[in-house]
Amino acid sequence: MGLDADTLAAGGVEQVALHERAAAVTRERFGRQVFVRGVVEISNHCRENCHYCGMRRDNRALDRFRAKHDQLAELLIHHRPASLTDVNIQAGEDPVAVREVALPLVRTLRHETPLGVSVCLGTLNEALYDELQAAGATLYIIKFELADAAHYEQLEAPGTLAERVRHIRLLALRGWRVSSGFIAGLPGQSADELLANLRLARELPLDGCSVSPFIPGESTPLAREPVGGLETTLNCMAALRLMRPELLIPAVSALNLTGADDGYRRGLRAGANLCTINLTPAEMRGDYLLYKRERFIMNEERVLQAIAAEGLEVSRAGLTEHWCHEPSALEAAAG
Ligand code: SF4
Repeated sequence: MGLDADTLAAGGVEQVALHERAAAVTRERFGRQVFVRGVVEISNHCRENCHYCGMRRDNRALDRFRAKHDQLAELLIHHRPASLTDVNIQAGEDPVAVREVALPLVRTLRHETPLGVSVCLGTLNEALYDELQAAGATLYIIKFELADAAHYEQLEAPGTLAERVRHIRLLALRGWRVSSGFIAGLPGQSADELLANLRLARELPLDGCSVSPFIPGESTPLAREPVGGLETTLNCMAALRLMRPELLIPAVSALNLTGADDGYRRGLRAGANLCTINLTPAEMRGDYLLYKRERFIMNEERVLQAIAAEGLEVSRAGLTEHWCHEPSALEAAAG
């Protein structure tokens, strides 16, 4: 599709038409099936200092935690919701947690469950990527966050934009399925910057991409800034779906933190095809401060209700099974 600022600013009947087209393309490609995965947040230690995130290293007000392998293994092997086909192991950028928790947990899940395993652990080195892959993880989630290099640097996003993009390409080359993502509505983000996010998402070898509305995080330099717009975020999701029909596009829980109760469900109407159930034990969840303490937690009940209310169904096939029949973005680009 042609991409322009008017699409991202669409309102009224134009916006309805945009979202309906995106939903139709999603149904054509995936039917009424929505993938359901779980997420466990294993550490809120982070060596990075992103201005938009409450887990940044300069936030001294935060109690830091690292989860225990055995607790999460017990939860995921014996007490996970029946609807899950996949699980995402997520942390701040904390190489200690990668070694002590993520790697053993991936191995355990591989041996003890049929779950597909994704990881979202930040920019690591090639040896660690390979170890995680050998342990059985198949999808690496690494967001580029914003595609404007100067703004990226100003917000102290991880490393540099060029480095982040290099790691996305490297992961794809090493056989990972890769999902990325960006933030819509950051303070000072121009329409051109938003379009640049979509262009970068289009050209990278991605199998998935999220769009998250900017939520001013507690104890961050952006704490007093306004929330990023839900409408712009939904329009970006719809544009992404029309540009790349095959992508995995999550409905992110932050869609319900923009002031609208129906943000999450509207995400499912604007091209999303993945829901995530938060499984982090309650005693740790409060300190996983991506935004603010009153996070909108998508538990199993809320996710299943949202899927049913939109006339959709939980996919029995997991991501691994789905991708068995689909070339990776890198393979597709190579023809
Ligand atoms: S966004 Fe990620 S890398 Fe940046 S401070 Fe937060 S947890 Fe760390």
